[in-house]
Formats: sequence, C-alpha cells, structure tokens
Amino acid sequence: MHEKPFWETTPLDQMSRKQWESLCDGCARCCLTKIQNDFTEDIYYTNVACHLLDESSCRCTRYTERQQLVPDCVVLASDQLGKFTWLPDTCAYRLLDEGKPLPQWHPLISGDSDSVHAAGMSVRGRTIAEDSVNEDKIEDFIIHWIPKTRAHKNA
Ligand code: SF4
Ligand code: SF4
Repeated sequence: MHEKPFWETTPLDQMSRKQWESLCDGCARCCLTKIQNDFTEDIYYTNVACHLLDESSCRCTRYTERQQLVPDCVVLASDQLGKFTWLPDTCAYRLLDEGKPLPQWHPLISGDSDSVHAAGMSVRGRTIAEDSVNEDKIEDFIIHWIPKTRAHKNA
C-alpha cells in the first residue's frame, strides 16, 4: 500500500526541523518587497527583491544571518500557525496551514528542486534589485502575478 507523505500526516507544529525546512519550495516570493494599504490592510507584492536574494538561484545569500541583516525578514515558525495569510497563496506553509494540498510542481512532489522554476512559480527572471529603486516610487512596482493578500488580524 502507498504510504502517505509526511506533510499529509504530520501537523505543521509537530514536524521535525528537517521536514519543516523541506516544505519551502524555493520560490522566493516572500523575499519581495510588500506594501500594505493602511486603510484596507491589503498587502500588495512588488517585483523588488531583497538585496540578499540571489535572483538566479532564488536563495538567500546570507540565510543563517538573515534576521540580523534584514530585520523585516520573517523567519517562519510553527508558533505562527493561522497567521500565514500575508504569504503568497502558493506558499507551502500557507497552503498546509489552510488545509490545502501541495501543488504538483512542489519539489517534494516532483522530486526536482527546479520544478518550481520550470512551472513559472518562482521569482526567477522577474525581479529588480532593491538598490535600483527609489523608495518613494515603490508603488510603481506592484505586481499582480502574486495576488494581493492580507495580514492576519492578530499577526
Ligand atoms: S513563499 Fe513560502 S515556499 Fe516560497 S520561498 Fe517563501 S517560505 Fe518558501
Ligand atoms: S534576508 Fe534572505 S530570506 Fe530574508 S527576505 Fe532577504 S533574501 Fe529573503
């Protein structure tokens, strides 16, 4: 009989560190600058990438020091369950937290870390560097291939 994979049987808050880390599909969507509308509280994604992101690999160049170097960088943890609503709707943590399945292009299902790029779900080739953007003009860089989202009200 086919055994179910761990992400279908193990609740997020009971996963091992290795299982938790493997859920990240490497899309780097969460490494884009976001803007929140103060009135509606909607969060819009831009195509402006964090200066520590390697745009071609879609990996953080300073992963272990990321929080010290980029205070806004949110390190996802299981004590934030129910508060992942600000993440892209394709993010594995958000999907599982909302009781949804992982997509077929997720590397855990495809067995290929490149499948997230091949499926066009990563930010590869779609970003611009943070240091080339005038902060006052950040709204000009809002994108719609990541739908607007919203912070959890108790986040
Ligand atoms: S959006 Fe989610 S799956 Fe994608 S890189 Fe960020 S944490 Fe990983
Ligand atoms: S510090 Fe690294 S993980 Fe955090 S937003 Fe920047 S590139 Fe992404």
